[in-house]
Amino acid sequence: MSVRSGGVAPRNANLAATPARAIPPPVSELIPAAELPAFQTQLLGWFAEAKRDLDWRRTRDAYRVWISEIMLQQTRVAAVLPYYQRFLARFPTLDALARARLDAVLRSWAGLGYYSRARNLHRAAKEIVARHAGEFPRRIEEALALPGIGHYTAAAVLSIAYGEPHAVLDGNVARVLARLGAIRGDLRRPKRWRELAAAANALLPAQAASAAGPPSSPGDWNQAMMELGATLCTPRGPQCAVCPVSRWCRAHALGIALRLPAPRPKPKPVRLALSAAVLLDPRGRTLLLRQKGQHSSLFSSLWHFPAIQSARPAPEKLSRYLQSAFGITAALEPLPPARHTVTFRRILLAPFLVRVAKLPAVTSPTHGFPPPTLHAPASRARALQAPRAPRSGDVRTPPLAKIERLPISSATKKIAAAALAALNALPRRRQRASLSF
Ligand code: SF4
Repeated sequence: MSVRSGGVAPRNANLAATPARAIPPPVSELIPAAELPAFQTQLLGWFAEAKRDLDWRRTRDAYRVWISEIMLQQTRVAAVLPYYQRFLARFPTLDALARARLDAVLRSWAGLGYYSRARNLHRAAKEIVARHAGEFPRRIEEALALPGIGHYTAAAVLSIAYGEPHAVLDGNVARVLARLGAIRGDLRRPKRWRELAAAANALLPAQAASAAGPPSSPGDWNQAMMELGATLCTPRGPQCAVCPVSRWCRAHALGIALRLPAPRPKPKPVRLALSAAVLLDPRGRTLLLRQKGQHSSLFSSLWHFPAIQSARPAPEKLSRYLQSAFGITAALEPLPPARHTVTFRRILLAPFLVRVAKLPAVTSPTHGFPPPTLHAPASRARALQAPRAPRSGDVRTPPLAKIERLPISSATKKIAAAALAALNALPRRRQRASLSF
Protein backbone atom coordinates (compact mmCIF):
# COMPACT_ATOMS: atom_id res chain seq x y z
CA MET A 1 0.00 0.00 0.00
CA SER A 2 1.24 3.45 -0.78
CA VAL A 3 1.02 6.26 1.75
CA ARG A 4 0.79 9.80 0.49
CA SER A 5 3.17 12.19 2.15
CA GLY A 6 1.15 15.39 1.83
CA GLY A 7 2.22 18.72 0.38
CA VAL A 8 4.69 20.02 2.96
CA ALA A 9 8.22 20.63 1.70
CA PRO A 10 10.85 18.41 3.33
CA ARG A 11 13.22 20.10 5.79
CA ASN A 12 15.68 17.29 6.00
CA ALA A 13 18.69 16.94 3.73
CA ASN A 14 18.41 13.14 3.54
CA LEU A 15 14.82 13.37 2.43
CA ALA A 16 15.16 16.52 0.35
CA ALA A 17 15.38 14.52 -2.87
CA THR A 18 11.87 13.19 -2.27
CA PRO A 19 9.29 15.47 -3.85
CA ALA A 20 6.69 16.48 -1.26
CA ARG A 21 3.88 14.75 -3.15
CA ALA A 22 5.86 11.69 -4.19
CA ILE A 23 4.57 8.31 -3.17
CA PRO A 24 6.75 7.10 -0.27
CA PRO A 25 8.02 3.53 -0.08
CA PRO A 26 5.68 0.77 1.13
CA VAL A 27 5.10 0.66 4.88
CA SER A 28 7.17 -2.51 5.13
CA GLU A 29 10.25 -0.63 3.77
CA LEU A 30 10.35 2.51 5.88
CA ILE A 31 14.14 2.72 5.80
CA PRO A 32 15.99 2.12 2.52
CA ALA A 33 17.92 -1.17 2.68
CA ALA A 34 21.25 0.61 2.09
CA GLU A 35 20.70 2.83 5.13
CA LEU A 36 19.33 0.19 7.46
CA PRO A 37 22.67 -0.70 9.17
CA ALA A 38 23.34 3.00 9.93
CA PHE A 39 19.78 3.43 11.26
CA GLN A 40 20.15 0.37 13.50
CA THR A 41 23.57 1.40 14.80
CA GLN A 42 22.32 4.89 15.56
CA LEU A 43 19.27 3.72 17.50
CA LEU A 44 21.11 0.99 19.42
CA GLY A 45 23.93 3.38 20.32
CA TRP A 46 21.42 5.87 21.68
CA PHE A 47 19.62 3.13 23.66
CA ALA A 48 22.87 1.89 25.21
CA GLU A 49 23.55 5.43 26.45
CA ALA A 50 20.10 6.75 27.29
CA LYS A 51 18.01 3.78 28.45
CA ARG A 52 16.28 4.09 31.78
CA ASP A 53 17.58 1.80 34.53
CA LEU A 54 14.49 -0.32 35.21
CA ASP A 55 14.33 -3.42 37.40
CA TRP A 56 13.18 -5.69 34.59
CA ARG A 57 16.08 -4.57 32.41
CA ARG A 58 18.53 -6.16 34.82
CA THR A 59 17.36 -9.67 34.03
CA ARG A 60 16.89 -12.04 31.10
CA ASP A 61 14.83 -14.42 33.21
CA ALA A 62 11.74 -15.23 31.13
CA TYR A 63 9.43 -15.35 34.16
CA ARG A 64 10.47 -11.87 35.33
CA VAL A 65 10.36 -10.41 31.84
CA TRP A 66 6.87 -11.90 31.38
CA ILE A 67 5.60 -10.44 34.68
CA SER A 68 6.93 -6.99 33.74
CA GLU A 69 5.40 -7.07 30.26
CA ILE A 70 1.97 -8.05 31.59
CA MET A 71 2.10 -5.37 34.30
CA LEU A 72 3.19 -2.71 31.81
CA GLN A 73 0.15 -3.27 29.60
CA GLN A 74 -1.98 -0.12 29.87
CA THR A 75 -0.04 0.93 32.99
CA ARG A 76 2.70 3.54 33.44
CA VAL A 77 6.25 2.48 34.33
CA ALA A 78 6.24 4.49 37.58
CA ALA A 79 3.03 2.78 38.71
CA VAL A 80 4.36 -0.68 37.88
CA LEU A 81 7.71 -0.45 39.71
CA PRO A 82 6.50 -1.06 43.30
CA TYR A 83 4.06 -3.76 42.18
CA TYR A 84 6.75 -5.57 40.21
CA GLN A 85 9.04 -5.72 43.24
CA ARG A 86 6.29 -6.77 45.67
CA PHE A 87 4.85 -9.36 43.29
CA LEU A 88 8.21 -11.02 42.76
CA ALA A 89 8.99 -10.96 46.47
CA ARG A 90 5.66 -12.79 47.03
CA PHE A 91 5.95 -15.13 43.98
CA PRO A 92 9.69 -15.36 43.25
CA THR A 93 9.42 -18.18 40.72
CA LEU A 94 6.98 -19.36 38.08
CA ASP A 95 6.43 -22.48 40.17
CA ALA A 96 5.52 -20.37 43.22
CA LEU A 97 2.97 -18.44 41.13
CA ALA A 98 1.46 -21.66 39.77
CA ARG A 99 1.10 -23.10 43.28
CA ALA A 100 -0.42 -19.93 44.79
CA ARG A 101 -4.13 -19.48 45.39
CA LEU A 102 -5.85 -17.15 42.95
CA ASP A 103 -7.01 -14.90 45.80
CA ALA A 104 -3.41 -14.37 46.91
CA VAL A 105 -2.41 -13.43 43.34
CA LEU A 106 -5.33 -11.01 43.03
CA ARG A 107 -4.44 -9.43 46.39
CA SER A 108 -0.91 -8.76 45.16
CA TRP A 109 -2.41 -7.24 42.02
CA ALA A 110 -4.94 -5.06 43.88
CA GLY A 111 -4.62 -1.46 42.67
CA LEU A 112 -3.00 -2.24 39.31
CA GLY A 113 -6.39 -2.71 37.62
CA TYR A 114 -7.34 -4.88 34.65
CA TYR A 115 -7.53 -7.94 36.89
CA SER A 116 -8.02 -10.35 33.99
CA ARG A 117 -4.26 -9.92 33.53
CA ALA A 118 -3.61 -11.44 36.97
CA ARG A 119 -6.11 -14.26 36.40
CA ASN A 120 -4.52 -15.10 33.06
CA LEU A 121 -1.01 -14.96 34.57
CA HIS A 122 -2.08 -17.48 37.17
CA ARG A 123 -3.73 -19.78 34.61
CA ALA A 124 -0.77 -19.51 32.26
CA ALA A 125 1.70 -20.32 35.09
CA LYS A 126 -0.25 -23.51 35.81
CA GLU A 127 -0.21 -24.45 32.11
CA ILE A 128 3.52 -23.78 31.84
CA VAL A 129 4.17 -26.06 34.80
CA ALA A 130 1.86 -28.75 33.41
CA ARG A 131 2.93 -28.63 29.75
CA HIS A 132 6.36 -27.02 29.57
CA ALA A 133 8.11 -28.38 32.68
CA GLY A 134 7.89 -24.96 34.35
CA GLU A 135 9.90 -23.13 31.62
CA PHE A 136 8.32 -20.30 29.66
CA PRO A 137 8.12 -21.82 26.13
CA ARG A 138 10.63 -20.67 23.49
CA ARG A 139 8.45 -21.28 20.44
CA ILE A 140 6.12 -18.44 19.58
CA GLU A 141 3.20 -20.75 18.74
CA GLU A 142 3.43 -22.29 22.21
CA ALA A 143 3.70 -18.88 23.89
CA LEU A 144 0.66 -17.61 21.96
CA ALA A 145 -1.37 -20.63 23.12
CA LEU A 146 -1.05 -19.49 26.76
CA PRO A 147 -3.86 -17.46 28.40
CA GLY A 148 -3.40 -13.71 28.19
CA ILE A 149 -0.45 -13.81 25.77
CA GLY A 150 -0.84 -12.00 22.46
CA HIS A 151 1.70 -11.27 19.73
CA TYR A 152 3.17 -8.26 21.52
CA THR A 153 3.82 -10.10 24.81
CA ALA A 154 5.09 -13.25 23.11
CA ALA A 155 7.52 -11.25 20.94
CA ALA A 156 8.72 -9.19 23.91
CA VAL A 157 9.37 -12.16 26.21
CA LEU A 158 10.95 -14.38 23.56
CA SER A 159 13.20 -11.65 22.19
CA ILE A 160 14.35 -10.27 25.55
CA ALA A 161 14.70 -13.57 27.43
CA TYR A 162 15.82 -15.90 24.64
CA GLY A 163 17.06 -13.58 21.85
CA GLU A 164 14.45 -14.93 19.44
CA PRO A 165 14.01 -12.68 16.34
CA HIS A 166 10.45 -11.41 16.81
CA ALA A 167 9.73 -7.68 16.54
CA VAL A 168 7.27 -6.12 18.99
CA LEU A 169 4.48 -3.84 17.89
CA ASP A 170 2.66 -1.86 20.53
CA GLY A 171 1.28 1.69 20.61
CA ASN A 172 4.74 3.24 21.18
CA VAL A 173 6.41 1.34 18.34
CA ALA A 174 3.46 1.94 15.99
CA ARG A 175 3.70 5.68 16.65
CA VAL A 176 7.46 5.70 15.88
CA LEU A 177 6.91 3.73 12.67
CA ALA A 178 4.01 5.94 11.61
CA ARG A 179 6.17 9.03 12.03
CA LEU A 180 9.22 7.53 10.35
CA GLY A 181 7.07 6.78 7.30
CA ALA A 182 4.64 9.74 7.64
CA ILE A 183 1.83 7.19 7.67
CA ARG A 184 -1.61 8.71 8.02
CA GLY A 185 -4.95 7.23 8.98
CA ASP A 186 -6.02 4.83 11.73
CA LEU A 187 -3.03 2.63 12.62
CA ARG A 188 -5.26 0.08 14.35
CA ARG A 189 -7.10 -0.94 11.20
CA PRO A 190 -6.21 -4.65 10.85
CA LYS A 191 -4.59 -4.30 7.40
CA ARG A 192 -2.53 -1.29 8.48
CA TRP A 193 -1.52 -3.01 11.72
CA ARG A 194 -0.32 -6.05 9.75
CA GLU A 195 1.73 -3.75 7.51
CA LEU A 196 3.26 -2.07 10.55
CA ALA A 197 4.11 -5.50 12.01
CA ALA A 198 5.87 -6.36 8.75
CA ALA A 199 7.71 -3.01 8.87
CA ALA A 200 8.80 -3.64 12.47
CA ASN A 201 10.14 -7.07 11.49
CA ALA A 202 11.99 -5.60 8.50
CA LEU A 203 13.87 -3.20 10.81
CA LEU A 204 14.93 -5.92 13.26
CA PRO A 205 18.72 -6.32 13.01
CA ALA A 206 20.20 -9.72 12.28
CA GLN A 207 22.22 -10.61 15.37
CA ALA A 208 25.46 -11.02 13.42
CA ALA A 209 25.05 -7.63 11.78
CA SER A 210 25.55 -5.81 15.04
CA ALA A 211 29.23 -6.74 15.23
CA ALA A 212 30.26 -3.32 13.89
CA GLY A 213 27.97 -1.41 16.24
CA PRO A 214 26.98 -1.73 19.89
CA PRO A 215 26.23 -5.25 21.15
CA SER A 216 22.60 -6.04 20.49
CA SER A 217 19.98 -8.73 20.37
CA PRO A 218 16.39 -8.69 19.13
CA GLY A 219 15.51 -7.93 22.74
CA ASP A 220 17.76 -4.86 22.81
CA TRP A 221 16.32 -3.70 19.51
CA ASN A 222 12.73 -4.10 20.65
CA GLN A 223 13.47 -2.25 23.87
CA ALA A 224 15.25 0.51 21.94
CA MET A 225 12.20 1.05 19.70
CA MET A 226 9.86 1.07 22.71
CA GLU A 227 12.17 3.39 24.64
CA LEU A 228 12.28 5.85 21.74
CA GLY A 229 8.47 5.92 21.66
CA ALA A 230 8.19 6.22 25.45
CA THR A 231 10.80 8.93 26.03
CA LEU A 232 11.44 10.98 22.85
CA CYS A 233 8.82 10.20 20.24
CA THR A 234 5.96 10.81 22.65
CA PRO A 235 2.36 11.38 21.54
CA ARG A 236 2.15 15.11 22.31
CA GLY A 237 5.77 16.24 22.45
CA PRO A 238 8.14 14.53 19.98
CA GLN A 239 11.68 15.74 20.71
CA CYS A 240 12.92 15.60 17.14
CA ALA A 241 15.87 17.93 17.84
CA VAL A 242 17.55 15.27 19.98
CA CYS A 243 16.15 12.19 18.27
CA PRO A 244 18.87 9.74 17.15
CA VAL A 245 16.97 8.77 13.98
CA SER A 246 15.56 12.14 12.93
CA ARG A 247 17.49 12.11 9.66
CA TRP A 248 15.39 9.14 8.50
CA CYS A 249 12.08 10.53 9.72
CA ARG A 250 9.59 11.64 7.07
CA ALA A 251 7.14 13.17 9.55
CA HIS A 252 9.93 15.35 10.97
CA ALA A 253 11.05 16.33 7.47
CA LEU A 254 7.50 17.29 6.55
CA GLY A 255 6.89 19.08 9.85
CA ILE A 256 3.88 16.90 10.67
CA ALA A 257 5.23 14.79 13.56
CA LEU A 258 2.73 16.25 16.03
CA ARG A 259 -0.18 15.41 13.74
CA LEU A 260 0.74 11.72 13.53
CA PRO A 261 -0.60 9.24 14.21
CA ALA A 262 -4.18 10.33 13.60
CA PRO A 263 -6.14 10.31 16.87
CA ARG A 264 -8.52 7.36 17.28
CA PRO A 265 -12.20 8.10 17.80
CA LYS A 266 -12.94 7.70 21.50
CA PRO A 267 -16.09 5.92 22.66
CA LYS A 268 -18.63 8.28 24.20
CA PRO A 269 -18.51 8.17 27.99
CA VAL A 270 -21.38 6.32 29.66
CA ARG A 271 -22.52 7.80 32.96
CA LEU A 272 -24.08 5.59 35.58
CA ALA A 273 -24.59 5.39 39.31
CA LEU A 274 -23.73 2.51 41.58
CA SER A 275 -25.73 2.45 44.81
CA ALA A 276 -23.89 0.23 47.29
CA ALA A 277 -24.90 -1.04 50.73
CA VAL A 278 -22.23 -1.14 53.44
CA LEU A 279 -23.87 -3.53 55.91
CA LEU A 280 -22.51 -3.21 59.44
CA ASP A 281 -23.21 -5.49 62.41
CA PRO A 282 -22.50 -4.62 66.08
CA ARG A 283 -19.05 -6.28 65.83
CA GLY A 284 -18.07 -4.01 62.94
CA ARG A 285 -18.34 -6.78 60.32
CA THR A 286 -19.70 -6.17 56.86
CA LEU A 287 -20.85 -8.33 53.96
CA LEU A 288 -19.07 -8.69 50.62
CA LEU A 289 -20.14 -10.61 47.53
CA ARG A 290 -18.34 -12.11 44.58
CA GLN A 291 -20.53 -13.26 41.73
CA LYS A 292 -19.67 -14.01 38.11
CA GLY A 293 -21.27 -11.48 35.80
CA GLN A 294 -22.45 -9.34 38.76
CA HIS A 295 -21.03 -5.90 37.98
CA SER A 296 -17.96 -7.93 36.99
CA SER A 297 -16.38 -5.23 34.85
CA LEU A 298 -17.00 -2.49 37.45
CA PHE A 299 -15.63 -4.51 40.36
CA SER A 300 -13.15 -6.53 38.26
CA SER A 301 -14.90 -9.76 39.42
CA LEU A 302 -13.48 -9.16 42.91
CA TRP A 303 -15.21 -8.94 46.30
CA HIS A 304 -17.65 -6.04 46.51
CA PHE A 305 -20.49 -4.60 48.55
CA PRO A 306 -24.08 -5.47 47.54
CA ALA A 307 -24.89 -2.91 44.85
CA ILE A 308 -27.21 -2.00 42.05
CA GLN A 309 -26.54 -0.02 38.90
CA SER A 310 -28.89 2.62 37.60
CA ALA A 311 -28.86 5.93 35.80
CA ARG A 312 -28.95 7.88 39.10
CA PRO A 313 -28.44 6.94 42.79
CA ALA A 314 -31.39 4.73 43.69
CA PRO A 315 -31.75 4.05 47.45
CA GLU A 316 -35.30 2.72 47.04
CA LYS A 317 -34.18 0.18 44.48
CA LEU A 318 -31.20 -0.77 46.65
CA SER A 319 -33.55 -1.18 49.57
CA ARG A 320 -35.79 -3.51 47.56
CA TYR A 321 -32.75 -5.52 46.50
CA LEU A 322 -31.54 -5.90 50.10
CA GLN A 323 -34.98 -7.03 51.19
CA SER A 324 -35.44 -9.45 48.33
CA ALA A 325 -31.94 -10.98 48.31
CA PHE A 326 -31.14 -10.88 52.06
CA GLY A 327 -34.40 -10.19 53.92
CA ILE A 328 -32.94 -6.88 55.22
CA THR A 329 -35.37 -4.06 55.98
CA ALA A 330 -33.04 -1.66 57.87
CA ALA A 331 -32.82 2.02 56.95
CA LEU A 332 -30.20 3.27 54.49
CA GLU A 333 -27.97 6.13 55.74
CA PRO A 334 -26.41 8.04 52.82
CA LEU A 335 -22.62 8.41 52.87
CA PRO A 336 -20.57 10.93 50.85
CA PRO A 337 -20.53 9.92 47.16
CA ALA A 338 -17.32 9.36 45.19
CA ARG A 339 -16.36 9.43 41.53
CA HIS A 340 -14.88 6.45 39.77
CA THR A 341 -13.88 5.77 36.16
CA VAL A 342 -13.57 2.44 34.39
CA THR A 343 -12.46 2.86 30.75
CA PHE A 344 -15.34 4.84 29.14
CA ARG A 345 -17.69 4.61 32.14
CA ARG A 346 -18.01 7.57 34.51
CA ILE A 347 -19.44 6.14 37.68
CA LEU A 348 -20.99 7.90 40.63
CA LEU A 349 -20.47 5.70 43.69
CA ALA A 350 -23.38 6.26 46.07
CA PRO A 351 -22.68 4.33 49.28
CA PHE A 352 -25.25 3.78 52.04
CA LEU A 353 -24.56 2.55 55.56
CA VAL A 354 -27.01 -0.15 56.64
CA ARG A 355 -26.81 -1.07 60.33
CA VAL A 356 -28.06 -4.57 61.06
CA ALA A 357 -28.26 -6.52 64.33
CA LYS A 358 -27.05 -9.61 62.47
CA LEU A 359 -25.56 -10.11 59.04
CA PRO A 360 -27.73 -12.29 56.81
CA ALA A 361 -26.82 -15.95 56.46
CA VAL A 362 -26.89 -16.72 52.76
CA THR A 363 -27.42 -20.45 52.30
CA SER A 364 -29.00 -20.93 48.90
CA PRO A 365 -29.78 -19.12 45.69
CA THR A 366 -33.54 -19.25 46.31
CA HIS A 367 -34.07 -15.52 46.92
CA GLY A 368 -35.36 -14.13 43.69
CA PHE A 369 -34.84 -10.55 42.69
CA PRO A 370 -36.53 -9.10 39.66
CA PRO A 371 -34.42 -7.06 37.26
CA PRO A 372 -34.67 -3.37 38.17
CA THR A 373 -36.65 -1.00 36.00
CA LEU A 374 -34.03 1.05 34.25
CA HIS A 375 -34.72 4.69 33.60
CA ALA A 376 -32.07 5.18 30.96
CA PRO A 377 -31.88 5.30 27.17
CA ALA A 378 -31.88 1.82 25.63
CA SER A 379 -28.22 2.01 24.58
CA ARG A 380 -27.15 2.94 28.09
CA ALA A 381 -29.51 0.48 29.71
CA ARG A 382 -27.55 -2.35 28.13
CA ALA A 383 -24.56 -1.29 30.22
CA LEU A 384 -26.55 -1.59 33.43
CA GLN A 385 -26.86 -5.03 34.93
CA ALA A 386 -29.56 -6.51 37.12
CA PRO A 387 -28.28 -8.00 40.39
CA ARG A 388 -28.96 -11.65 41.05
CA ALA A 389 -29.33 -13.42 44.36
CA PRO A 390 -26.02 -14.51 45.92
CA ARG A 391 -25.06 -18.09 46.71
CA SER A 392 -23.42 -18.95 50.02
CA GLY A 393 -19.98 -19.43 48.40
CA ASP A 394 -20.23 -15.91 46.98
CA VAL A 395 -20.34 -14.25 50.43
CA ARG A 396 -17.75 -13.17 53.01
CA THR A 397 -18.30 -11.25 56.26
CA PRO A 398 -14.95 -9.62 57.16
CA PRO A 399 -14.50 -6.68 59.57
CA LEU A 400 -15.19 -3.50 57.60
CA ALA A 401 -11.80 -2.10 58.60
CA LYS A 402 -10.01 -5.19 57.21
CA ILE A 403 -11.70 -5.90 53.91
CA GLU A 404 -8.43 -5.20 52.10
CA ARG A 405 -7.30 -8.64 53.18
CA LEU A 406 -9.57 -9.89 50.40
CA PRO A 407 -8.99 -9.00 46.76
CA ILE A 408 -11.10 -5.89 46.18
CA SER A 409 -11.21 -3.27 43.46
CA SER A 410 -10.47 0.41 43.93
CA ALA A 411 -14.23 1.17 43.66
CA THR A 412 -14.84 -1.06 46.70
CA LYS A 413 -11.95 0.63 48.52
CA LYS A 414 -13.53 4.04 47.89
CA ILE A 415 -16.90 2.87 49.21
CA ALA A 416 -15.30 1.34 52.33
CA ALA A 417 -13.26 4.51 52.88
CA ALA A 418 -16.43 6.62 52.80
CA ALA A 419 -18.05 4.37 55.41
CA LEU A 420 -14.99 4.27 57.66
CA ALA A 421 -14.51 8.04 57.43
CA ALA A 422 -18.13 8.58 58.44
CA LEU A 423 -17.81 6.18 61.38
CA ASN A 424 -14.47 7.65 62.49
CA ALA A 425 -15.96 11.14 62.38
CA LEU A 426 -18.34 10.16 65.19
CA PRO A 427 -17.17 10.88 68.76
CA ARG A 428 -15.95 7.72 70.53
CA ARG A 429 -19.05 7.33 72.67
CA ARG A 430 -21.32 7.63 69.64
CA GLN A 431 -19.13 5.21 67.71
CA ARG A 432 -19.70 2.59 70.42
CA ALA A 433 -23.40 3.36 70.43
CA SER A 434 -23.56 3.23 66.67
CA LEU A 435 -22.04 -0.24 66.71
CA SER A 436 -24.27 -1.49 69.52
CA PHE A 437 -27.60 -0.42 68.03
S1 SF4 B 1 12.35 12.63 14.50
FE1 SF4 B 1 10.71 13.19 15.86
S2 SF4 B 1 8.88 12.24 14.99
FE2 SF4 B 1 10.64 11.30 14.02
S3 SF4 B 1 11.04 9.44 15.21
FE3 SF4 B 1 12.32 11.08 16.07
S4 SF4 B 1 11.11 12.00 17.74
FE4 SF4 B 1 9.74 10.76 16.44
